[in-house]
Amino acid sequence: MSINGKVLPHTPLAVDFWQVRKCPGTRLFFLSHMHSDHTVGLTSTWSNRPIYCSQTTATLLRLKLQVKEQWIHPLELGEPHQLPLDDIGKERLTVTLIDANHCPGAVMFLFEGYFGSILYTGDFRYTPSMLREPCLRTNTTIDVLYLDNTNCDPNRTLPSRQRATQQIKDIIRSHPNHNVVIGLYALGKESLLLELAMEFKTWIEVSFERMETLKALELPDVFTTDTGAGRIRAVEQSQICSATMQQWNKEQPTLAIMPTSRPLVSFHSKVHVVPYSDHSSYQELEDFVAALKPTSLVPIIGNCVPESLSALLPGKRRHEILVPESVRHYMLNQPESQRSSSAHTRLHHQQRQHFLPLAPKGVIFESPLSKSRKSCEEACEPESLEQDASEEQMDTASSENGSILIDMSKNRPPDKNIKVLETCGTLLEWSLKIWYGQTQCVVANPPRTSLLQWRL
Ligand SMILES: [Zn+2]
Repeated sequence: MSINGKVLPHTPLAVDFWQVRKCPGTRLFFLSHMHSDHTVGLTSTWSNRPIYCSQTTATLLRLKLQVKEQWIHPLELGEPHQLPLDDIGKERLTVTLIDANHCPGAVMFLFEGYFGSILYTGDFRYTPSMLREPCLRTNTTIDVLYLDNTNCDPNRTLPSRQRATQQIKDIIRSHPNHNVVIGLYALGKESLLLELAMEFKTWIEVSFERMETLKALELPDVFTTDTGAGRIRAVEQSQICSATMQQWNKEQPTLAIMPTSRPLVSFHSKVHVVPYSDHSSYQELEDFVAALKPTSLVPIIGNCVPESLSALLPGKRRHEILVPESVRHYMLNQPESQRSSSAHTRLHHQQRQHFLPLAPKGVIFESPLSKSRKSCEEACEPESLEQDASEEQMDTASSENGSILIDMSKNRPPDKNIKVLETCGTLLEWSLKIWYGQTQCVVANPPRTSLLQWRL
């Protein structure tokens, strides 16, 4: 599992990063949401360090990972919260949580302090209403934008979730005699399931484990664990393969739907991949970056963003960070269980109060660069700490025995049965004809970069 988290250089902060031995100077840990690629290393044995997250994520953190209550610090969305950055009460940061429009409990974090302003999106699907959040409306200069670049490919377009939902409804409607399985991760796309339940007036069948999560989220009562009670069933994505499709179709005509933005291609006539995405499309990322005009941009996955995106930056240089003495001391000290616990319990009570954002302190501003920085190396902040390289977002859903889904974003054909026959089309619309074993298949608009690598 790749790690989609970061330690924020020159600060005692980390987001979605839980490998304590790799970040000895980190004292405050933030969890953007409960997808498993953001919780790698976080277990029930977590201790001595506070975790800040939304209320919903806190609920799921207790339920799913059994993290001890004393380390979980839920924060309200939309309010500025002050947290200590040292042991002597001198230096503080302000953090504001913003709904990330991704999955239940998912938030973005806006950090303000001696380091300037850092916006960490976590996984998010951009919507213009985000820019109307008071904390982003106040003309704050974002010094560093950590951006969810899952779908950051200018050659790929993605429909809105509304359009993708419509596509899913159309597929189900055109198969009136079929049961439907929907391939999902353990968390996310609950609103899609609710909409399908209402549209087709059916129970949604789920596993006991998923039901536990749904109950904790207090969603409307359309879910059941009774086998055969509903026409639609939510399953893990990895369950959809040729063996299960065969099994399900023996019992009842069944089609499978994979709502995902990953460029999967289905080789099974009854498995439909629909580009329903909880991550921003490239166009949405462009809109977001163009509106925020951050001084620098750090992709959360990998190290590079397309030049067309970094070209939107205003071409300023980020000011140099001076880490205050008391913060440096704080980062060098190992937390003591007792002291850390009581200090943060105290803060937890203070968090109900409203605080005004602090003006950045201890910062030296440099004059802007004369030319805009367009190359990737210039636009991306170098990470000062060693971190695990993020690979692809998730493991491919295709199962090894009976692979019917192929991830076109991988560097080369994942299966030796695939042979590229020909490519055709124009710059905007193009397709790829391939053999998959004995089956010939046409893939519309595959990701261009992958294709070039495939042909090599
Ligand atoms: Zn996620």
